[in-house]
Amino acid sequence: MSTKPEAPEKGKDFIRQIIDKDLEKGAYGGRVHTRFPPEPNGYLHIGHAKSICLNFGLARDYDGKCNLRFDDTNPVKEDVEYVDSIREDVRWLGFDWDNNFYASDYFERLYFIAELFIKMGKAYVDHQTADEIRENRGTLKEPGVNSPYRERSVDENLALFRSMRAGELPDGACILRAKIDMAAPNVMMRDPALYRIKHATHHRTGDAWCIYPMYDFTHGLSDAIEGITHSICTLEFENNRPLYDWCVDTLMDGLKRTELFGENAAIYTELAALPGFTDRPRQYEFARLNITGTVLSKRKLIQLVKENHVNGWDDPRMPTISGFRRRGFTPESLRDFCDRIGVAKADSMVEYPLLEACLREDLNKRAPRYMGIMDPVKMVIENYPEDQVDEFEIALNPEDESYGTRTVPFSREVWIERDDFMIDPPKKFFRLGPDREVRLRGAYYVLCTGYETDADGNVTLIRATFDPASRGGWLEGGRKVKGTLHWVSARHALSAEVRNYGPLFTTENPNAVEEGKTFVDYVDPNSLEILADCKVEPAMADLPAGTNLQFERTGYYCADLRDHKPGQALVFNRTTTLRDTWAKIQKQTA
Ligand code: ATP
Ligand code: MG
Repeated sequence: MSTKPEAPEKGKDFIRQIIDKDLEKGAYGGRVHTRFPPEPNGYLHIGHAKSICLNFGLARDYDGKCNLRFDDTNPVKEDVEYVDSIREDVRWLGFDWDNNFYASDYFERLYFIAELFIKMGKAYVDHQTADEIRENRGTLKEPGVNSPYRERSVDENLALFRSMRAGELPDGACILRAKIDMAAPNVMMRDPALYRIKHATHHRTGDAWCIYPMYDFTHGLSDAIEGITHSICTLEFENNRPLYDWCVDTLMDGLKRTELFGENAAIYTELAALPGFTDRPRQYEFARLNITGTVLSKRKLIQLVKENHVNGWDDPRMPTISGFRRRGFTPESLRDFCDRIGVAKADSMVEYPLLEACLREDLNKRAPRYMGIMDPVKMVIENYPEDQVDEFEIALNPEDESYGTRTVPFSREVWIERDDFMIDPPKKFFRLGPDREVRLRGAYYVLCTGYETDADGNVTLIRATFDPASRGGWLEGGRKVKGTLHWVSARHALSAEVRNYGPLFTTENPNAVEEGKTFVDYVDPNSLEILADCKVEPAMADLPAGTNLQFERTGYYCADLRDHKPGQALVFNRTTTLRDTWAKIQKQTA
């Protein structure tokens, strides 16, 4: 019998392969515990969705756990509005956390961990100015220079750190630094900052603290405190990994040195008993998601919002999760997209049309169909009795019978799409023109008998006759028509506002800009088109906000989450057109 380990399952990403190996070795007692750690300094974007799907997906697939942890160590940029939006977005994507923690939950413990580092001779208070620290850090080629404060005594460092905490020193007076190695080849390891003074009100801890721990110090220790096993972050943190390890390892050493515990022994004993300080977490890096045609950086997204280039974080042109939601993307389509792009170790650029392809595939299955006229022109069916109304039952979703039908009324006057009619149509135009016959979807054949124009030559009215034998849109054994048009009975039509969105930027890559320009110079001011008076079926009167639907022959739309009011104001966002540009690209490159 072979004892060789099984080859990694085909298609398993490198993180899952690592976890499989860990489980084989019996690491972490078979536990898999991940976390998603956003800083609450903005709304989540599609890049975060990738991280969410990965971290929560691992917990799901390995019967493990995933925490939501707010990395809230920078009080100046953080806000509860962001905390709330992040929680909403994670849930909307279809995930739920096992615990919701905040780095600020650990401020007290982190403070005493820093004290222990000082007692171990592993941290010191540095009074150099920020400029001096930068200068003395050295470069990639040259080692740094030791701070003149590096050899301060433990007692002096403790006293200074305590006075930092007590608020006796102004912002920037000094910092607490790890004492590692100013000549380390990895610049990150040249005595990195652990704590800084910041007299600022924190959205959770208020004014309890005027010193705040730095990201690198906080992150690994928070992971260990929570018993995280696999700490997954993006590639730009690769150089931070030795520091992550240093912080956890140093504390693990320190927790053995009970003689240093002093009067705070209870805190240290409690930490030492946590599984995370026996079987410690490890950091793994994967590639960030980049997507064509947009920016994925909170700093840039904030700028778009603050400078009013868009209408808020959930503007349907934004690559935020809330923007995609309002645009009409489904959580299923975003999750499918994240699955399809996979998890890799090298950065790459994903084509936006792939995201749209995932969306169309999902909406095709789930979106009920309706008829809506974007640019209406009236057609009078002159042989149809003035007071007559036909009612047609038309399937809501040809992909899924369980959706049932809606009732579509037909009368003497109907709206059709302006560009479905041409006065002098070319041969291949299979829609309407003088003396041509088409099918009105689900209703009747109509023959165009004339039209009227205004002084500028714009068509204002189309005259037609219908064939009563073609009821339902079919003429058994009779002549065939090539074109099928969508339509709405004028007498029964509801007015609706339709918002069409184009790309927010005029370039495929707003991250690479010409010299002297910034990415906002590429914002397309015409990327939102509002059609104020579209005509839609009466069956749409009470659709709730957030409903996904297809306007036949036109595209996928979603009843706007903010402005659509059932029974009062109908407002639809175009989610995407029906045309599949992705299939085209694939064909071209095949
Ligand atoms: P940004 O650069 O947009 O501000 P961030 O990395 O600073 O993003 P965080 O709130 O710190 O944002 O991120 C939370 C988690 O989401 C982190 O683990 C981070 O690595 C991950 N993440 C952020 N952006 C992306 C992305 N584009 N692709 C994949 N994961 C991402
Ligand atoms: Mg960040």
